[in-house]
Amino acid sequence: MPQTNLFCRLVGLLLVTVAWTGCQRAPAERADLLIVGATVVTMDAERRVLPDGALALRGDRIAAIGPRAELEHRYPAARRLEARGRLLLPGLINAHTHAPMTLLRGLADDRALQDWLENYIFPAEARHVNEEFVLWGTRLAALEMLRGGITTFVDMYYFEEQVAQATQQAGLRAILGQTLIDFPAPDHKSVADALAYTETFLQRWQGHPRIRAAVAPHALYTNSAETLQAAAALARRYRAPILIHLAETRREREAAQREYGLSPVGYLDQLGLLGADLVAAHCVWVDAADIALLRERDVGCVHNPSSNMKLASGTAPVVEMLAAGLRLGLGTDGPAGGDRRHGPLSDWTP
Ligand SMILES: [Zn+2]
Repeated sequence: MPQTNLFCRLVGLLLVTVAWTGCQRAPAERADLLIVGATVVTMDAERRVLPDGALALRGDRIAAIGPRAELEHRYPAARRLEARGRLLLPGLINAHTHAPMTLLRGLADDRALQDWLENYIFPAEARHVNEEFVLWGTRLAALEMLRGGITTFVDMYYFEEQVAQATQQAGLRAILGQTLIDFPAPDHKSVADALAYTETFLQRWQGHPRIRAAVAPHALYTNSAETLQAAAALARRYRAPILIHLAETRREREAAQREYGLSPVGYLDQLGLLGADLVAAHCVWVDAADIALLRERDVGCVHNPSSNMKLASGTAPVVEMLAAGLRLGLGTDGPAGGDRRHGPLSDWTP
């Protein structure tokens, strides 16, 4: 199918995970690689699209982007990669996933979130998830993401050290959150153990050029206030991001109203978690006051439409969120949560 071919060609060029900015002012003598002839979609301030464009790479940085003729003249000695008929554009970002769950894809259908999670996913994870599962599951996810044009992803899972190792080997960029959950998990039997592991994980990956370790309390309905606050305190001690599932289902919203007299967003704010360092997945069951509060606290929210549809969670008010100026990303959620490959949100064929 021509469309499929075009897409495969397009994503083939996305394996170069490099900074996209600052490419115009670089000095112009030496480059290691010149990609020529592609239609270059810059996504720069002017949103320039260069037909028959070129991109020069030096080390792991983009040295220049411009018309093919100009760059060929500036970098005559560089190795050349012909890319006529292809698109060259910045990598896509999957802002919420659970990479190792590639190995649980298709596990249970036609279940709402809580039934799916408590009766199928948590028991399967308790039985099967170990370091080896996580390592190989992430390797498969990395392959799928790269083929889908994703160069950066945000992950929450167990044994996140293994996720980090597979990510490093794959050459991807990622924010990787170690999950904290208030019942015995596949990797830790207590929150105290999980917190200690998470601290070591944060220390080990500090300063890595592509991997940022994070703290990921699972959700309001699986974490006590004490765990949520301990997770936030640990993250903030290391200036690490905090990742969480938030306001995903009507049930979560109703429980928060009943138990705390607040919306899930309001409750997290009361606990002091809302901030620019928080990435909140879903935000489906939010009202106008919640959206205003998320905006005020500069929280990053992630829309996961295929997961929300599969698990009948609802539809996030993304139009209202964008109108309010909220920072909003797109995610696939775990492959078991949408039965998709880790790719762009449209279907694709390998
Ligand atoms: Zn999720």
